[in-house]
Amino acid sequence: IFDEYSIKSQVRPVPNFPKPGVTFRDITPLYQSPRAMRMIADSLIQRYVDSPITHIGAIDARGFLLGAVIAYELNKPLVLLRKPGKLPADALRQSYQSEYGESALEIHRDALQAGDQVLLLDDLIATGGTFLAAARLVKQLGADVYEAAAIIDLPDLGGSRLMQDADIPTFTLCAFA
Ligand code: 5GP
Repeated sequence: IFDEYSIKSQVRPVPNFPKPGVTFRDITPLYQSPRAMRMIADSLIQRYVDSPITHIGAIDARGFLLGAVIAYELNKPLVLLRKPGKLPADALRQSYQSEYGESALEIHRDALQAGDQVLLLDDLIATGGTFLAAARLVKQLGADVYEAAAIIDLPDLGGSRLMQDADIPTFTLCAFA
């Protein structure tokens, strides 16, 4: 069973990273804990095992690690949403404003098609800009976002609210308010 306290207690707050005034929620201790990793993966697998998802869309870079585990276990294709300039073949780009400045994500044009039901995965929702950009790319390829899921929500930054307003079903395992 999912022990929210145990997961939250293993997220390390790092003050003034990546810039003064920001407290970064460092999830590397979760990835370093087999027990935490298993709890997170099992919760997500249980949530989606009987869902109609056809693809896992994993977000660069901490979402990749989660995405690989979930895609393996659910036996679904793993699609990468990457930082710009990394994907070698023909790609679509979506720029967005992140917490720390201008960012962009890319996806290979042949990665998805109409009718696909994508589960987007990342480690954390802050302003929601990253997931919103990812969802735009998925939709530009004619596919649908079944849900966007993350380990952690930072609701005070408003991202999960923005995503819901944009009709993107959103799921997180825990929150720091
Ligand atoms: P957003 O686009 O929602 O503002 O920011 C979320 C994206 O930035 C995610 O890809 C996430 O990995 C990264 N991010 C932003 N703030 C944090 C944070 O405090 N901790 C972690 N682990 N990632 C963050």
